[in-house]
Amino acid sequence: MSQKGKLNRRAFLGASAGALAGVLASGNKALGLLSEPAARQPKEKSIILRTLGKTGYKIPVVSMGVMNADNPELVFRAYELGIRHFDTAAGYQRGRNEEMVGQVIEELKARDKVVIATKIFIPPQQRNQLSADKIKEIHLKAIDECLTRLRTDYVDILYSHNVPEVSWVKNPGLMEALQEIKAQKKARFIGLSTHQNMDEVIRAALEMKIYEVILATFNYSLYDYPEYLETLKKAASRGVGLIAMKTQCQQPWYRENNPPEIKKFYEGPLLNAALLKWVLRHEFITTAVPGFTTFDQLNEDITVAYNLEYTPEEKKFLENRLVKTQMAAVCRLCGQCQATCSHKVDIPNILRAHMYATAYGNLYEARETLDSIEQGKSIEACLDCEDCTARCVRGVNIKRRIEELKTLYA
Ligand code: SF4
Ligand code: SF4
Repeated sequence: MSQKGKLNRRAFLGASAGALAGVLASGNKALGLLSEPAARQPKEKSIILRTLGKTGYKIPVVSMGVMNADNPELVFRAYELGIRHFDTAAGYQRGRNEEMVGQVIEELKARDKVVIATKIFIPPQQRNQLSADKIKEIHLKAIDECLTRLRTDYVDILYSHNVPEVSWVKNPGLMEALQEIKAQKKARFIGLSTHQNMDEVIRAALEMKIYEVILATFNYSLYDYPEYLETLKKAASRGVGLIAMKTQCQQPWYRENNPPEIKKFYEGPLLNAALLKWVLRHEFITTAVPGFTTFDQLNEDITVAYNLEYTPEEKKFLENRLVKTQMAAVCRLCGQCQATCSHKVDIPNILRAHMYATAYGNLYEARETLDSIEQGKSIEACLDCEDCTARCVRGVNIKRRIEELKTLYA
């Protein structure tokens, strides 16, 4: 970061010091004073705020999923534009992502003005081998490391990261570890993140009653999954704070299935704004964590936080029959394809790695995802398999995505 940038920012922050005080609790007025509005934001509107379940945090409907970002200036700018919730994880960029968030928030002197969420992950194949004591030990050590990287004494939300199975939701060692971290005041609220088998996982979390915030995949491709929508509604009605991730269906569906002249229609602001609005028009979702990595994307996403009404073009896009059909080609990580693979590889997580590599451009996260898969069930198993027999119940082109991933990693 340049010295000039720092000085300008400090001068700006000094001028805004009064406006910053108590921004989390004080709502639209204070947020509106934080910075110049983004170019397309209508002046008469304010950022829409919602309360995160029983946590009481009142935050803008658009937050920052920091995972793919590696530019601290982007985090600064997000804060300047009113974003108050930053979602990171111990594993993102091997801890550097947390370090970046910690550094920026410290420089802004804004720790009490923001909601920081982080995550601790134990790969599923290891989870099931560990004793309750070991699970607790791993978590207690990991949270201290997170806090050091984040330069803070506490995180606002601590998630168990990437939970696809009910047995982990109900694992006594995990529940005890999270509750102990909360009792030690190292996390104000505890929860879990899930992007696979979400419906079942969230229902199990409600049963357990200790999970206060859930970060879950929620996007337009799930429009025809009423059971899941009902579960989310139920969770919100019980005071669980719901945060949406993977909101803009960042998967290659529109590139795989469209002729070039139509592809253009799907890329850029229209696609992003329409999809993000669709998510946020569901009031049971408090906020979304889009993973913008450029200033243009940030401006597009923050604009949505001011106005959730669809433009006529966005409406046309979402109602387009072809778009709706193609949404079927977004992988829901349901796992139903696994039975059709001769080697029983972990197709959902391989496809998730494909999404990180091809749609997010995050090759590091893709590799980490592949490495977290049980030995013998990752992309290496596909190397000698010349004719992919795997079939998706929704029409996802598994064979093609596996081939693309093989050229990258195998
Ligand atoms: S490829 Fe299809 S069947 Fe397999 S996990 Fe994704 S949506 Fe489910
Ligand atoms: S190429 Fe297809 S069938 Fe072969 S191991 Fe991989 S996913 Fe399974």
